[in-house]
Amino acid sequence: MNTPLRVLIHGASGRMGQALLRLAADAPQSWQVVAAVTGRAPTQRVVDGVPFFAAAELGGVPAFDVAVDFSLPEGVEPLLQLCVARRAALVSGTTGLAPAQRESLEAAAASIPLLWASNFSVGVAVLDELVERAARALPGWDCDIVESHHVHKKDAPSGTALTLGESAARGGATPRYASLRAGDIVGEHLVQLAGQGERIELVHRASNRDIFARGALQAASRLHGRPAGLYSMRGLLFGDS
Ligand code: NAD
Repeated sequence: MNTPLRVLIHGASGRMGQALLRLAADAPQSWQVVAAVTGRAPTQRVVDGVPFFAAAELGGVPAFDVAVDFSLPEGVEPLLQLCVARRAALVSGTTGLAPAQRESLEAAAASIPLLWASNFSVGVAVLDELVERAARALPGWDCDIVESHHVHKKDAPSGTALTLGESAARGGATPRYASLRAGDIVGEHLVQLAGQGERIELVHRASNRDIFARGALQAASRLHGRPAGLYSMRGLLFGDS
């Protein structure tokens, strides 16, 4: 029997953190959450056997194999430093990172295996492929990306919309973005390609954030034990770079 992977959940009190804790607890043969880290001091020190730490106490967390991060941009740098110091892998889904924070991620990937993805759903990874192919096949068509999320989402356009836009641009399109914030929408992305007299709409709708949490945990288990480097969802799923 394999020993479970020792996981640190960063952003543990958030919407994604709570989904990660629940899914990890459902599969104790695969995951042992050794630390759950929150931005502010936790209200309870141990929840369902999992020790909680404030971000300010990050240096005192026990040994872990991989950190899974869904927090806020300002929390990412200290976690990067910890993972590098502990030689642990990092899976991060935090969006809204500034260019300097993206550069820090890339620099850390020289010493640890690291995967940052704006979206951990398998469906969006496939959509991303389709967008690049469609844009390449349709030179000169207009490309608009419309994303909708719940009212609490802080960054806009979403990280996923920007990733889809990068793929469209690789295919030769010049994407424009529109963002809607309404109700409790988990996440919707529409990529519209419009020509003269016809248009294509490629849409992904997430109805449950477990898809992101499950994808991030799968990525964590695939990343553990790999050499240092910057990995991607498309790379792990489809074997591209
Ligand atoms: P949330 O606001 O519900 O939770 C944020 C969590 O981060 C909380 O636990 C908070 O205590 C913690 N936090 C805040 N500041 C921190 C700090 N300085 N250090 C450590 N922890 C800190 O947010 P959410 O909806 O769970 O989303 C979290 C992030 O994940 C956002 O950037 C969101 O866009 C992104 N996200 C990514 C994906 C994906 O597939 N990549 C999917 C959903 C959400």
